[in-house]
Amino acid sequence: MHAKLLAIRDQVQARNPGEVEFHQAVDEVFESLGPVMERHPEYVEAAVLERLCEPERQIIFRVPWTDDSGHVQINRGFRVEYNSALGPYKGGLRFHPSVYLGIVKFLGFEQIFKNALTGMPIGGGKGGSDFDPRGRSDAEVMRFCQSFMTELYRHIGEYTDVPAGDIGVGGREIGYLFGQYKRITNRYESGVLTGKGLGWGGSLVRPEATGYGTVLFANEMAKTRGGSFDGKRVIVSGSGNVAIYAMQKAQQLGAVVLACSDSDGYVVDEAGIDIELVRQIKEVERGRLKEYAERRGSAVYVAGGSVWDVDAEVALPCATQNELGEAAAVRLVNAGVKVVAEGANMPCTPEAVTVFQKAGVLFAPGKAANAGGVATSALEMQQNASRDSWTFEHTEQRLTEIMVGIHDRCAETAELYGQPGNYVLGANVAGFVKVAEAMLAQGLV
Ligand code: GLU
Repeated sequence: MHAKLLAIRDQVQARNPGEVEFHQAVDEVFESLGPVMERHPEYVEAAVLERLCEPERQIIFRVPWTDDSGHVQINRGFRVEYNSALGPYKGGLRFHPSVYLGIVKFLGFEQIFKNALTGMPIGGGKGGSDFDPRGRSDAEVMRFCQSFMTELYRHIGEYTDVPAGDIGVGGREIGYLFGQYKRITNRYESGVLTGKGLGWGGSLVRPEATGYGTVLFANEMAKTRGGSFDGKRVIVSGSGNVAIYAMQKAQQLGAVVLACSDSDGYVVDEAGIDIELVRQIKEVERGRLKEYAERRGSAVYVAGGSVWDVDAEVALPCATQNELGEAAAVRLVNAGVKVVAEGANMPCTPEAVTVFQKAGVLFAPGKAANAGGVATSALEMQQNASRDSWTFEHTEQRLTEIMVGIHDRCAETAELYGQPGNYVLGANVAGFVKVAEAMLAQGLV
């Protein structure tokens, strides 16, 4: 790492002790920025990086609620408003027991560059809670969301900060959050949240967008070497919103999707994953993937194993951070993987990324490959602002153009910096420069 960057990195670690995921996300971006510091001494002069690493505002709050048996429960709520150089803070809310400030900061930091890459006018932010929705009734989830929004509402707004979903936050939670925001503020402010239901301000294609976008990006990478998804064996980790629609788009492009997973194990289905069945089990019944194999004769369920043990040409990690380590990467490379695109945020460890890059695998980092979700959120904001709603075809066309645009921007930037095919460098540098230019123009704020 460049000496100047190393000094800032050390300072970031000292100021944010114990936040290992945040340190990892900063390191990963800094590894790419050495040549940018050489080309742009004005960024060093204006302390752009020191400022970028310090969130503009961090909000931590108590979320009290009562469970169905009448017991008081206390959770912790977070919103990190990271950077507003390009637009209102934008990014999801994650409800998962692992959430603490370090996770929210890693996600918020990534979101700044991801959102910049989309070319849309959105800044970066992230939030969430250590609340675990798993096993909770709808009524409990509603009471939690109402309590969460009773504090959050004062910090957000369509021109200020626009949350959306992430792990543990889907259409149901956004509905409860929006209802409470509307009740407290007495405003039907559609653009304050994205991922809304289709009948009340949501956008077509938003549910599909992250997964579709990941595959569209991977397809663009494959094209640079004359490849495609047609006939390819694809494995996906996760079975939530991102995984489901990544699998659907891969199938639409002619791939055979063999396997997907949840935190208990994975399924292999040689006949190709039945996506409607996964959706029914996971999204409608809120059940576990084990039930998939019980209902489908062609599938085998492997309890506790790693989905990366299945041989494939394309691997799409769509579950969570650090789910694919060095050993799994080596195995995938030996099994002939050619394309890896991150549907989740930072699912591959730095060691795994190095293995893929050294082996010449086409590797897409999440901040580029999974940007379709937030980009379509920005399209939802556009529709809300103009009180319009677009067709599926039009919205998907816009998403496709955006993903091709991100791909080309990353590829051109990597080329410009003398590392053709290095999408990690391309994404980090292109995202960073866009934000840095805006920060310079806006002065010391
Ligand atoms: N949570 C998603 C992400 O990681 C989407 C955020 C949004 O739509 O605002 O990008």
